[in-house]
Amino acid sequence: MEFKICQYKNNAKGAFTFVFDDGCYWESTEWIYEIFKEIYEKTGVMLKGTSAQTVGFISPTLINKWKELFKSGYFDLSAHSINHCIGYNKNTSEEELHKDARDSQAELEKMYGIKPLTYVTPGGGSDEFGWNVLKSYYIANRNGNDRMNIPNNIDWYDIGTFTAMLKRTNEEYKNNIDEAIKSGGWSVQINHWVTKKAEDVFHSQSYDTFVYECNYLAKKAQSNEIWVSSLNEAVLYLQEYEKSTLEIKENDREYEITLVCPLDKDIYNYPLTIEVKNENTSTCVDILPNQTIKIGK
Ligand SMILES: [Zn+2]
Repeated sequence: MEFKICQYKNNAKGAFTFVFDDGCYWESTEWIYEIFKEIYEKTGVMLKGTSAQTVGFISPTLINKWKELFKSGYFDLSAHSINHCIGYNKNTSEEELHKDARDSQAELEKMYGIKPLTYVTPGGGSDEFGWNVLKSYYIANRNGNDRMNIPNNIDWYDIGTFTAMLKRTNEEYKNNIDEAIKSGGWSVQINHWVTKKAEDVFHSQSYDTFVYECNYLAKKAQSNEIWVSSLNEAVLYLQEYEKSTLEIKENDREYEITLVCPLDKDIYNYPLTIEVKNENTSTCVDILPNQTIKIGK
């Protein structure tokens, strides 16, 4: 028997993540939730997204609704600054950056009881100076640079993106997903909101292309070609994957397999998939960091 930690959950070939920036487009958020739910009921595939929230943009009247949404499992939370007017680069003082990074996390935790693990830098133009500050509070940062992320070579504070835009066609969204599968990459899509109108206001995606894209993703997830996860889950998985090793002991009857993960146990608790290969068969099992499982011979 052979054992291998899979690059992506369920041994998928590539991965895909939706990040919805700003947190202030409620109508669109409800539509997205309905689309995700409908697809889940139809196919059993749970599409997920991450809401990157700017503290000052969140309407207090919607906090309870957001809480429900986070509980639903379709969305999780990332931080996206206090007021969106901050450049994570050397034109901003270190003190100001620390204040924004720290306060964004603390304020969101106060609002929702959830501590965001990841950050999404607002606007463009972040650089190494800003990312170094984020390292004190977050395990990763999504940037605005257009590129496919290739595992084992990901800069965790400069995660690349694919930007949704009104003018993009079904074909372009499909090609991006196909590219992730073909290259074994992880595509992180920036969305602001989906719209049923014909005019664009900062990078919206048309409702119709979004529905098309979600159905295509579900189809590819069903055939296990792509893993669709939130930003936080993908970061946890891929960082654990980078650092973990398998310890295998064997007796006459079974194998004892331990996933040895040196990362902080309070944060890194996401299961990794192991492929178990026999001569002719291959099966997948999930295992938590530092868990031991037994597999009979
Ligand atoms: Zn933004």
